[in-house]
Amino acid sequence: MRCRLLAQSLRQFVSKVTPLRLVSSDGHDSLVQEAFRAGITDVFQRTRLGDLLAYLRDFFRRMYCHDLAGERILLVEDSRTFVQMVTNILQRCGIEVDSVGSVTQARQLLAKKTYHMIIVDLVLEGEESGLSLVRHLRQYGQTYIKLPILVMTSFDDSTRRIELFRAGANDYVPKPLVEAEFLARVHNLLTARKLFERVEEQERSMRELATTDQLTGLGNRHFFFELAARYLARAEREGRAMCMLVADIDHFKQVNDQHGHAVGDKVLRAVGDVLRAFLRKGDLVARFGGEEFVFLMPNCSAEDAFAKAEKIRRDCEHLDVGGVRLTISIGVACFDPGSPESLDSLFGRADKALYDAKRLGRNRVVMHARQIEESVRGVSE
Ligand code: GH3
Ligand code: MG
Ligand code: MG
Ligand code: MG
Repeated sequence: MRCRLLAQSLRQFVSKVTPLRLVSSDGHDSLVQEAFRAGITDVFQRTRLGDLLAYLRDFFRRMYCHDLAGERILLVEDSRTFVQMVTNILQRCGIEVDSVGSVTQARQLLAKKTYHMIIVDLVLEGEESGLSLVRHLRQYGQTYIKLPILVMTSFDDSTRRIELFRAGANDYVPKPLVEAEFLARVHNLLTARKLFERVEEQERSMRELATTDQLTGLGNRHFFFELAARYLARAEREGRAMCMLVADIDHFKQVNDQHGHAVGDKVLRAVGDVLRAFLRKGDLVARFGGEEFVFLMPNCSAEDAFAKAEKIRRDCEHLDVGGVRLTISIGVACFDPGSPESLDSLFGRADKALYDAKRLGRNRVVMHARQIEESVRGVSE
């Protein structure tokens, strides 16, 4: 009866899933049974408080250790006793710990190995303090920007704390350590780092999704136009030639009509693979529309661009996609830094050459000769 009342009144303040432990000096079985029936989770004898403490220690460890196995921490601490103690606490959570006694050793190890977090003592042997390690890591460009730093200190005053945070420490914990507090801080920093990485990963995949053509894995139209404008500006600035190639599969509608859309998709992928194989460092390739592709070649002469286009055309001619054969037509236009033009103009000329290739019977490469066109225009004017 007493147990039931106690359990009922406690339940008003805590959730249904919160364990209730009863500490009792009465060791009778009848009390234990009554307690269990009343919804008490477990009963501890007052004479065996050690059991309760062990239970609580384990409970908190499990709570803060959750998800920490496999993390790697560098501990920078010059007191052997502390190294032992901190290492024990962390290893019980499955965390891998390397320890060094000075800032110099820490730097050496950091250059060789990657860590998920650093725990550093403020006062260390050698010439440099923990604070100087914090400064060093935070001034080291992007390399350690995401590495959480927890500082341990027995000099617990606000001026020092402010100094630590200004230098770039993420958190600090006073010495002597309170195990549960220490673990909670370690847990928070590691979790925050993981969340940060997850957000970064999501951002990366969103960006990739937004710029990639899902069918061929090449860049998409958006990707192409964003980068191509920058490439063109650089070619103009640096006075370098650059060529653009626009390719279109011949009679592709027939492939779809005769063999179905799925085969059409396979053909698109195969052509994408051919183009990808010709990518040089710095080149851009994208699926521009349905069965049209665009290839941008910086630092490339008109002769080289034409030769490359011809090879691409020939490779496509030799493709056999489950018995389906195909050809492509390609238009090429080159940017002349001596008489700059816009991206639209360059693209328009390559497209015009492609149109000519189609008109002349397909399965061919046509180069748009700007000079010829300009002189022809000059004569007719
Ligand atoms: P041309 O030689 O003049 O280029 O003729 P074509 O048949 O290739 O050109 P047209 O523009 O008439 O047809 C292009 C076809 O491409 C029509 C469309 O159904 C197909 N297409 C566009 N996007 C996709 C796609 O993602 N998958 C598949 N399978 N077909 C596509
Ligand atoms: Mg010390
Ligand atoms: Mg076509
Ligand atoms: Mg087309």
